[in-house]
Amino acid sequence: MSLPRKQIPIIIQIITGKPDFQTEKNGYLLPIPKDMAEVWSEFDIACMNRAIGLAERGRGQVSPNPPVGCVLVLNGRIIAEGWHNHLGDLHAEQAAIADAESRGVTTEGAMAYVTLEPCNHFGLTPPCTQALLWAGVKDVIVATRDPNPMVRGEGIKVLLDAGISVREGLLGTKARLQMQSFMNWCEHRRPLVTLKAAMDVNGVIDGNFSGRFTSEISLDAAHRLRRHCDAIVVGVNTVVKDNPQLNIRRVPLGQSQQPLRIVLDRSLRTPKSAILLTDGGETIIVHSLSDSQGVTLPSGNNGVNLNALLDHLGDRGIQDILVEGGASVWKQFLEEKLVDRAIIIQSSVELGEGPKANLDATLMENAGLNMIGTSNWGGDNVKFWSRSNLEWPSNEWP
Ligand SMILES: [Zn+2]
Repeated sequence: MSLPRKQIPIIIQIITGKPDFQTEKNGYLLPIPKDMAEVWSEFDIACMNRAIGLAERGRGQVSPNPPVGCVLVLNGRIIAEGWHNHLGDLHAEQAAIADAESRGVTTEGAMAYVTLEPCNHFGLTPPCTQALLWAGVKDVIVATRDPNPMVRGEGIKVLLDAGISVREGLLGTKARLQMQSFMNWCEHRRPLVTLKAAMDVNGVIDGNFSGRFTSEISLDAAHRLRRHCDAIVVGVNTVVKDNPQLNIRRVPLGQSQQPLRIVLDRSLRTPKSAILLTDGGETIIVHSLSDSQGVTLPSGNNGVNLNALLDHLGDRGIQDILVEGGASVWKQFLEEKLVDRAIIIQSSVELGEGPKANLDATLMENAGLNMIGTSNWGGDNVKFWSRSNLEWPSNEWP
């Protein structure tokens, strides 16, 4: 079920009867009704900030849901907190109600601050609207509406119809930034693309130096990135040469799933003995042959057609992919302007003679990316690039 992006706000308009819409700074079409010029108290802002902070605990564990947090307030005090911790677990509102129950605190007459419009459908859990009504919550403050076709204004409408006071828009931009992959997927039905590359001091990616050449901090960050993504994309040359595992090993897996591995392999050269095909994890070989194995997609200029790939992954509900290499795959994604964020790690080690990354500033800028910051990860120089109007999902990311 796919919804043309332009129709989403129109449908919300029909549901809410509120005619005014703005395009948010970060590019998502969302309704901002004229009468939402709320005056929020410092306490309101602190409570929603707390809910956003709680939501962050679910990052990497809740996909295809977004991270969501909730606090319950009674008589000017936070009485309970909750967040959507992992897929299949309670939603944030239900977790907050359960938190209150577990401590014997009444929720009758409470106010709920929640970072996303409460759901009103039976998914893996019953609707949060019903949980809020059952708990006796009287006021709900929502940071942002849910543009998912399954929700789309229904949650707010159900609460209003039940006589609950609902206000929206408190820290909405910050909340949408936090759940940007989900928002992007609802709008475009495609994943956000993060490119990660590591190279030596001369830009060489593979020389005669054996062993790790980036710092422990960089390696940990790379595994956190994998944890935050739904799928990792590599080219077949990387598989043939390195036989990588492409899983999460250096940081705790927690309640996350191991990422799906995707090999771009136009003419099916992946060895049957490759770790990716034999370790029990999920791997998709994407090729352009009329062969029953893997996924067949049309070929593009230098390999598999990447637009077809992103459409295919979007249809599978994948919201975030990490492009790990190698050089020709990075180049193809960049030249087709399909990269949303890039993290380029340059170590101080010399690998010796070998192929280069060739990720110079001109290529990055021509791909529509701006350098938004730098960092030092244990001696490695790290550059962060981002598509215009796309901010990093949080200060701690990755
Ligand atoms: Zn819910």
